[in-house]
Amino acid sequence: MGRYLVANRNLNAGENIIQESPVAIGPAANSEAVCLGCYIPVKLSLSQYRCSDCKWPLCSADCRGIGHVNGHTEYECKFLKEKNSAVDLIATATLTKIKHLYELILPIRILLMKTHKPDSYERIRVMESHIKLRKLNKILWDHYQEIIVNKLLKEWNLEGFSEEDIHTICGVIDVNCFEIGQKSAKARAMFPSAFLLSHDCVPNTSHTDHPETFSIMLRTSKRIKKNEPITLSYAYTLQGTFKRRDFMHAGKLFWCQCERCSDPTELKTDCSALVCAECSKGSVRSIDPLDQDADWKCDNCAYKLGAKSLESLLDKLNNELESIDPHNVAGLEGFLKKYQNTLRPNHYLFLSAKYSLCQVYGRIDGYLIHEMSLEDIKRKEKYCRDFLTVIDVLEPGLTRLRGLIMYELHAPIMVLSTRLIQNKLITRNDFQRNIKEVARLLRESRDILKMEPEGSNEYMMGQAAEDALKGMGMV
Ligand SMILES: [Zn+2]
Ligand SMILES: [Zn+2]
Ligand SMILES: [Zn+2]
Ligand SMILES: [Zn+2]
Repeated sequence: MGRYLVANRNLNAGENIIQESPVAIGPAANSEAVCLGCYIPVKLSLSQYRCSDCKWPLCSADCRGIGHVNGHTEYECKFLKEKNSAVDLIATATLTKIKHLYELILPIRILLMKTHKPDSYERIRVMESHIKLRKLNKILWDHYQEIIVNKLLKEWNLEGFSEEDIHTICGVIDVNCFEIGQKSAKARAMFPSAFLLSHDCVPNTSHTDHPETFSIMLRTSKRIKKNEPITLSYAYTLQGTFKRRDFMHAGKLFWCQCERCSDPTELKTDCSALVCAECSKGSVRSIDPLDQDADWKCDNCAYKLGAKSLESLLDKLNNELESIDPHNVAGLEGFLKKYQNTLRPNHYLFLSAKYSLCQVYGRIDGYLIHEMSLEDIKRKEKYCRDFLTVIDVLEPGLTRLRGLIMYELHAPIMVLSTRLIQNKLITRNDFQRNIKEVARLLRESRDILKMEPEGSNEYMMGQAAEDALKGMGMV
């Protein structure tokens, strides 16, 4: 596992462990045009404000990131201007070209530190880069050779660095950076100590970044015993083992072997299981989840599915789901219906659709809570519960996702109970019991979400939970 952190005493849930500013920050990999000062999206049209020196687009002349260490510094500006690097940042440029230019920014910022902030440069340079493994991975190596190394050394004649130096920095970024950004800002950042946490697909910490300072706040999400590793997840926890392991191998160059990855049922959540195409009764799961080439097999009949076929099925369904606007209720419901004989109800693609539905039911025109039918309200409740049951296992404790979904869940229970008691369809006792559950959900949701930074959407939702509790006289 390399270096990692362990608890040197018993830790309770919700303890702050790390709070620190980034040592380097830049646009996310695969980023479209963003402001170099604050990472919100910008346009490439003529009317977009641009830096008067280097001509890269910025959100405005008042951007807080101009001249700031977390944004567009003077020495970066000088470098970008010297290389006439903004020449391709025009509305007619291809998206690939634009993304490649933005991908260069973080490596450039780190390389420039060698002169301007040598301590920080050294701190980053010695982080794990997996350079030897990267050399063996031709696709990865050639990608960076072309879009970063050749660009910097051959086109822009950057001096003072070898090809190996630059590849090392690219490796360090891939292995150690955090995707950050609140609201519309999207960035990636390196932190001085948070990178030391090891990975687990069921992490015991939760982290968040400050919307303005970009500092990271990392806290325990559940109790951690003395000497236990302190972990976070490098991958999206709501993804099945097959894709999750693939993702981590591509970026971080290791094959996860944690408890969740080793278990074909993913800790009994069954969030990867398919419905058997042959007998339609059994569930199809990997016969060896730690082997990406292993067959998938039905637990009720002899049906088998090869790993390649499984992958193309997942890709096809994922693309289909991603093409549906997350506010399109009919589209998402249609997806759930269309594949009900393909995926188990807890499949991660279904959970993702259900999560979107939980957020739109009750919030968008035509589905505001007072205009929703009883069926729709019940559906929202069911999706919230399905989601919560799985997330209780995969992101247990004081985690943002639990806080958010508990807030979503309180509303349908409340509205449903009120309508039912008004029509004398439930007893007063049932009603009281439901209200108790609402209060419990709101309290836990408030306690979790109010740990998020002030000004974030999550914090505001925590505040809304508190207000709802006050309204009920149940703080
Ligand atoms: Zn800005
Ligand atoms: Zn500039
Ligand atoms: Zn794992
Ligand atoms: Zn079967």
